[in-house]
Amino acid sequence: MSINIIVAGPRGKMGHEAVQMITKEESFRLLACLDHKYDGYKLSDLDDFSNDLQIPIYTDIETCLNEHQADVFVDLTTPEVGYKHTKIALQHKVRPVVGTTGFTDEQLIELNELAKKQKRGCIIAPNFAIGAVLMMKFSKMAAEYFPNVEILEKHHDQKLDAPSGTAKKTAELIKEVRESKKQGHPNEEETIPGARGADMDGMRVHSMRLPGLVAHQEVIFGGAGQTLTIRHDSMNRASFMDGIKECVHRVMELEELIYGLENLL
Ligand code: NAP
Repeated sequence: MSINIIVAGPRGKMGHEAVQMITKEESFRLLACLDHKYDGYKLSDLDDFSNDLQIPIYTDIETCLNEHQADVFVDLTTPEVGYKHTKIALQHKVRPVVGTTGFTDEQLIELNELAKKQKRGCIIAPNFAIGAVLMMKFSKMAAEYFPNVEILEKHHDQKLDAPSGTAKKTAELIKEVRESKKQGHPNEEETIPGARGADMDGMRVHSMRLPGLVAHQEVIFGGAGQTLTIRHDSMNRASFMDGIKECVHRVMELEELIYGLENLL
């Protein structure tokens, strides 16, 4: 039996890739898309989509959810919009799979309570790349032996937040096993402010932004006479699609909110 899906943000970089993946997947059926433009159009009317994609576009989420019996709502939009969509999808008892980043802790708590009340699964995953999740897990393992660590994350120059959610999450996981300590020379001095990067519990986090990059991270551990580098590279947005696919299947079995793909793998 197919899983019936609605995608919000189909013209975006992630949304476009997700539409391609969903329409190729035999067990998925794309019912409709939600955008803030092109109400009443079909995806096939837009330049970037093929003629056979006769998928209706809605600008009003309530109309879209009332007219289509969806199982899963995939959101790849912007933080405020994504939060609103997730809440309304849950109110309609449709299971959200959310890639949109930037939700606040308060919003996550509220959505968690709503998912429980509605007895519907909801997955919010700031990084759908399975390799990135493994990088975080391996980094936590390595930190038990190497407490001196710096994180270097590199992203395209359109990214708004720094450091990335993945870098912050990596530092949080390392923090669970690493005793808090300030790294580097006790008397070190920055002759240019920011030269040593952000300080997270004594670990240093560096953010690089350049055109041409997608999403990359190195976690570099240093010990006596050796270094260990754990590195992940997303070369393009196809790297996130296996994670979305997995979440669409897994959300069907859940009755609560799961935050982070690492809690599913
Ligand atoms: P993007 O290219 O800017 O796409 C966002 C899309 O959402 C745009 O097409 C935008 O339309 C549309 N949009 C804005 N308001 C909307 C509304 N009210 N209803 C429906 N659509 C609306 O961004 P992206 O790179 O695809 O990223 C999308 C989100 O995913 C971001 O939050 C990003 O941080 C996150 N992300 C997550 C992962 C992950 O693995 N979880 C990976 C990469 C990115 P306009 O262009 O007309 O405004």
